[in-house]
Amino acid sequence: MGGESGGNRRRFIVDHNVGKLARWLRMLGYDSVFVAGQDDSQMVRQALEEGRVILTRDTGIMKRRQVKNGRLKAVLLESEEPERQMRQLMNTFDLKENARPFTLCLECNRSLAPRTREEVADRVPPYVYRTQTQYVECPACHRIYWRGTHWKAMMTRLERQLDAGEKQ
Ligand SMILES: [Zn+2]
Repeated sequence: MGGESGGNRRRFIVDHNVGKLARWLRMLGYDSVFVAGQDDSQMVRQALEEGRVILTRDTGIMKRRQVKNGRLKAVLLESEEPERQMRQLMNTFDLKENARPFTLCLECNRSLAPRTREEVADRVPPYVYRTQTQYVECPACHRIYWRGTHWKAMMTRLERQLDAGEKQ
């Protein structure tokens, strides 16, 4: 397993121009906040305060003093396609090695809490209840996640990108 753990685990701040990355990164268990507005200074401030790496397609960010002097880490994404962007990140960081799938809510970036099958019995479809034994719930939006077909399809797509990234 990788060396990143606890407090020094890689965290990201996702610029509005590469917003789709937030969900992919959360899927892999990487704390990623999404910036909806276009206030670059606010984003830079938050990244510095929270020790996050900025992901952007905005070359202006890369020219900022804090990025040039290394105080702030930022990645300029080369492609417009989210899957290619993930591949670039894979080549930049050890995302796969340190992945912790199923630990963060895809919508609100909060840590998911384990739930027993009994606890979710009346909140998931009967078919899911019959076939799935492991569940997690978001404490903020109360979505319940399980490793169903949709989730597996997303992971398969992602792994294809990550494998392709390794071969480059
Ligand atoms: Zn949530």
